[in-house]
Amino acid sequence: MDRRSKPAWQLKIAKERIDILFKEAQKTKEKKLQNRYVELARKIGMRYNVKIESKYRRKYCRYCYAYLTSKRRLVKGNLVVNCIDCKKTNRYPYK
Ligand SMILES: [Zn+2]
Repeated sequence: MDRRSKPAWQLKIAKERIDILFKEAQKTKEKKLQNRYVELARKIGMRYNVKIESKYRRKYCRYCYAYLTSKRRLVKGNLVVNCIDCKKTNRYPYK
């Protein structure tokens, strides 16, 4: 077995935890808490080498990892979200 990859059951748990963290982030209105949940989810992803699903990846800023709460706009087939923390523009392909 590849020493770098974790057993399947651990990966499953890691994915479930990421799910829970993003659900909690969605529930709260507190920005500090939302950013904390994103941070934790990313750490789990890194530790277990699991990818954070794209539906979750578009919920936080790819530059500063702040949870995105600003309005989403659709521009030329891309979902565009401005980050209120670092002022950068996040673009995601939208089908
Ligand atoms: Zn940002």
